[in-house]
Amino acid sequence: MFQTPSAADAAPKTVETVIIGAGPVGLFQIFELGLLGISTHIIDSLPQAGGQCTELYPDKPIYDIPALPVCGAQELIDRLLEQAKPFHATFHLGQEVTEVRRLENGKFLVATSAGTRLEAGAIIIAAGVGSFQPRRLALPGVEAFEGTSVHYRVKTAGDFHGRDLLICGGGDSALDWTLALCGKARSLTLLHRRAEFRAAPASVARMRELVDEGKMQLLLGAATAVRTEDGALVGLDVQGADGRELQVKADRVLAFYGLHPKLGPIAEWGMELEKRALKVDTEKFQTSVPGIFAIGDINTYPGKKKLILSGFHEAALAAFAVQHHLFPEKRQFLQYTTTSPIMQKRLGVGDAETHPGEH
Ligand SMILES: Cc1cc2nc3c(=O)[nH]c(=O)nc-3n(C[C@H](O)[C@H](O)[C@H](O)COP(=O)(O)OP(=O)(O)OC[C@H]3O[C@@H](n4cnc5c(N)ncnc54)[C@H](O)[C@@H]3O)c2cc1C
Repeated sequence: MFQTPSAADAAPKTVETVIIGAGPVGLFQIFELGLLGISTHIIDSLPQAGGQCTELYPDKPIYDIPALPVCGAQELIDRLLEQAKPFHATFHLGQEVTEVRRLENGKFLVATSAGTRLEAGAIIIAAGVGSFQPRRLALPGVEAFEGTSVHYRVKTAGDFHGRDLLICGGGDSALDWTLALCGKARSLTLLHRRAEFRAAPASVARMRELVDEGKMQLLLGAATAVRTEDGALVGLDVQGADGRELQVKADRVLAFYGLHPKLGPIAEWGMELEKRALKVDTEKFQTSVPGIFAIGDINTYPGKKKLILSGFHEAALAAFAVQHHLFPEKRQFLQYTTTSPIMQKRLGVGDAETHPGEH
């Protein structure tokens, strides 16, 4: 399966290519590069692959993937991961790419928030609408407690056991964690700004039962301030939907206000942008910096449509352009997976296996 690097290297590791973004289009890029014998490292700021499909609509059916009349969004990601498996891409998840810099030798340095440093011959940016960041609690002084008492995602559920827990939000994440942690936290309050919830009706119904059973409380209103004692978080001030001022006791706060995409550092890497997207040509899908390609929702060109299908086409053509960039002397010709022994070897379906990096 995929290799997961254990520790960030101080000196850059030399790799053939780096894909920035493990959404559906970045995942298909692994496959298209792999067919041409090109290995890759893929980086995503989210803790799992899948981009918008996994993060925004995993259970929704997609109807416009060729040859799949209907396919769940998460199912599509699972299938893409399965298809990419033979090419043993190295995944660096939960790390944002913060720096991309052209080196004197013509290669690129890619650095991440987790300290991973890679030196790549070519980069393919498949960063969608940007890296997803949790919407933060907009309360003065909250940053001092983020990562200790205030969290935007659950890494280890046990951290909230035995705590006075306040969960903010009305979507599936807020309700799922309310149901999962009720009875495990010492006390649990769910705070949502209005009586209507976006979460699955069954979860909302179960939450209301727990409230009726006295196992948790539901508050309608909005947090207005952080309450502290001796430097520790002890709760939040809340303005109730009925106008009352309330003090809610909590030593842990989980806020699920959704994610918003941040173009962030990509805008600073020196490539030409148009309306917050990277301008590319439609032959190579190369940006204004030779050796850096952009595919999927992050790019723009005349007639661009932000569809998964378009991203797949872009990945196929970009793979050939990457190959030409890395090996300009190599003659390119089109091969079919149906009949090409070398491609079948690379896919592990031929007589002998080959390895990424063999060209
Ligand atoms: C509700 C909904 C329904 C949709 N339905 C359809 C449909 O039916 N058919 C269809 O074709 N399309 C559909 N789409 C659009 C489709 O999801 C997108 O076109 C597709 O996800 C684009 O894929 P991508 O790989 O380019 O980008 P994304 O899926 O956005 O993935 C990009 C990834 O890059 C990562 N990233 C960005 N910047 C960085 C960085 N600096 N460092 C590290 N990682 C970074 C992000 O975290 C993200 O995981 C739908 C979209 C939504 C929201």
